[in-house]
Amino acid sequence: MTHQKHYFAAGPAALPAQVKQQIQDDIIHYRDSAISILELGHRSEAFTNILDESRRCMRELYAIPDNYQILFVQGGATLHFDAVPLNLLGSHTSATYIDTGLWSAKAARSAQKYTRVETFNGVSSDANEQSCLDPSEWTVHPDSAYVHFTPNETVDGMNCADPIDSPIPVIADMTSCLLMRDLNVADFGLIYSGTQKTLGIAGLSVVIVRDDLLDRAHASTPELCRYDCHAEHDSIVNTSPVFACYVMQLMLQWVSEQGGVKAMVEASRVRAKVIYDAIDSNPCWSNTIATNSRSSINAVFQGQSPAHTDALLAQAESCGLTGLQGHRKVGGVRVSMYNGTPLCAVEKLADLIANMKC
Ligand code: PMP
Repeated sequence: MTHQKHYFAAGPAALPAQVKQQIQDDIIHYRDSAISILELGHRSEAFTNILDESRRCMRELYAIPDNYQILFVQGGATLHFDAVPLNLLGSHTSATYIDTGLWSAKAARSAQKYTRVETFNGVSSDANEQSCLDPSEWTVHPDSAYVHFTPNETVDGMNCADPIDSPIPVIADMTSCLLMRDLNVADFGLIYSGTQKTLGIAGLSVVIVRDDLLDRAHASTPELCRYDCHAEHDSIVNTSPVFACYVMQLMLQWVSEQGGVKAMVEASRVRAKVIYDAIDSNPCWSNTIATNSRSSINAVFQGQSPAHTDALLAQAESCGLTGLQGHRKVGGVRVSMYNGTPLCAVEKLADLIANMKC
């Protein structure tokens, strides 16, 4: 029997079928022109239109206030682990990093090259369960230039609430949740995200930054890492990753057509319920994250033994469901459900999870 194939990888991740169809059409002739989208020049009017439309769409989707710039920066989220301290420390002597898992810890390690890093453990754990602390319980060092946190920990499968009204600028790595999370941009100093999970393909990142934070880059910051430089040049500092920007525009348009961020959040809630209900219904599986801290985007769970995990992965693969291996540091199973993941794929997988014998 042949199965329709579905991909659950953490990123690069599944794109909506409609977006892939449009890409296929534009590969040979971009919008009826003589050239392919792969050949489009970064100084062309067509490319300027791609960036303008992406900015407009992003601003509309999150009602981004006028005093925030939307930048498109070549490179992934890891670039910003260095770019954030280089651009934002200014004359401050420290930065606070909220440790909630693998990616926030990595960001903190990078920042240690540039400043004193005050790390605050944002997770409370006992023998059975881990949960995110409420941001009102964070201790943020008063000298800190900013407080950095990672709302959705992609590897650990944790989701933490956003702080509100912080007197110190909040910097958020939203690489696995931008466009899948309701948020008030005015609560943040800067948001960054690689595009390869929730809004496109690899090679590009989006930065949303408040204007008053653009004047403090360290003099030695490479030009391509300077947010003020990207703002000044409308994100065309050198040869832009044209194709990645184009896919991002398609994704932003697709999200708008589907009903915007609200619709994405609701679709994500429904997918997550289906998967976690299946995990919780079967004693073969364990997930030790408290219900209110579970990521609705990356569901991570362990088998009673590695053999159970391997059996599920093998069975899923034979049904055309792939990309489910847990991160190499954590093991187990990881079900990544981004904007391009259809509910029918999640239901098919949930059926296997619920009915596995152990
Ligand atoms: N932050 C988070 C939360 C991530 O999930 C990832 C990638 N999985 C990264 C940062 C690193 O992204 P990139 O590979 O684009 O540098």
